[in-house]
Amino acid sequence: MARIEAASPHTMNTYGRVPIALSHGQGARVWDVNGKEYLDALAGIAVNTLGHNHPKFVPAIQDQVAKLIHSSNYYHVPNQEKLAAKLTQLSGMTNVFFCCTGLEANEAALKLARKYGHDKGIERPKIVVYEKAFHGRSIATLSATGNEKVQKGFGPLVEGFVRVPMNDIAALKAATEGDKDVVAVFFETIQGEGGINPMRIEYLQQVRELCDQRGWLLMIDEVQCGMGRTGKWFAHQWAGIVPDVMPLAKGLGSGVPIGAVVAGPKAANIFQPGNHGTTFGGNPLAMRAGVETIRIMEEDRLLDNAAEVGAYLKGALARELGGLPQVKDIRGQGLMLGMELDRPCGVLVNRAAEAGLLISVTADSVVRLLPPLIYTKADADECVGILAPLVKAFLAE
Ligand SMILES: *Cc1c(COP(=O)(O)O)cnc(C)c1O
Repeated sequence: MARIEAASPHTMNTYGRVPIALSHGQGARVWDVNGKEYLDALAGIAVNTLGHNHPKFVPAIQDQVAKLIHSSNYYHVPNQEKLAAKLTQLSGMTNVFFCCTGLEANEAALKLARKYGHDKGIERPKIVVYEKAFHGRSIATLSATGNEKVQKGFGPLVEGFVRVPMNDIAALKAATEGDKDVVAVFFETIQGEGGINPMRIEYLQQVRELCDQRGWLLMIDEVQCGMGRTGKWFAHQWAGIVPDVMPLAKGLGSGVPIGAVVAGPKAANIFQPGNHGTTFGGNPLAMRAGVETIRIMEEDRLLDNAAEVGAYLKGALARELGGLPQVKDIRGQGLMLGMELDRPCGVLVNRAAEAGLLISVTADSVVRLLPPLIYTKADADECVGILAPLVKAFLAE
């Protein structure tokens, strides 16, 4: 058997990798180069919405690859308009800018907010961001991120951010009291890397109202929690609100790199020719992937599936592990779930892989499950069947 070396001699040492290499997948299952099978409860970190080798998705991508992969934004890309129309219909917003990754979508959102301020005569605009937030690893998005580990060694950070705690409207008001430079509030509806931490419905509604009163942009990073994962297209829709700016990425292309910033009327016309752009963003392959992902999600009713199987999976976790005193919380919505233990539990990632299950651990002590949205209840049972004994054994050590 080919042992995968822990250190790779020619790639930069940026990841603490699980010592396996995956070769192919089918549905919610993947196989490594040695032929070992795994149940996928991570979906490439919320990316493989449709699982692997989806019978409707793959032929469409093959067709597109044979037609046109890239053409450049020098020219019109018909599926940009088609995907943008679909995203605006699903979100109740109006216009879209396409890019390739989550950080790029967030970078565009931050530029939109700053220009929104400058257009109003605010020379040094400030954006409200949150404790434990994760928005990416460019210099601006790591500055917006609320995690010193992500920031350490990369200063000076970008200025113009005001940081507040989650779910505390009084703290938000106090931090921005009388500050005429604030232009936007920026957060994830459910923090992903921060440990599956949801914003409360009431708080989301209060912030929407405050943004309207103060003329601020409400910018919601749905890169991880969006695209159907929670059982609605976008997680903030559980609160019945509509943001002004919404970055998307991860699940939007079912594995093909894609990012998007969706804007409502307050932000749709801020960028003018020359203000922003990208070489790869909106390319024909990525646009086809986005169009087909949404089409298949609708045809196969994957939002309902995410809600139903997610609730079932959460229930099974609660039944098997929720009663243990070392399990502090089981939280999240749909197929975006976190189980917080009373201790760091990163070792569970490799142990689960050995046992044939792909998961992640984030914020040191939170087991994170982000399965593909095609998960069945049988998959959920199998997932908990592998995970529960591992967690029990770990907690008994
Ligand atoms: C993953 C993630 C990002 C960064 O996306 P990349 O594609 O890795 O740049 C930004 N925001 C959130 C909420 C994420 O989960």
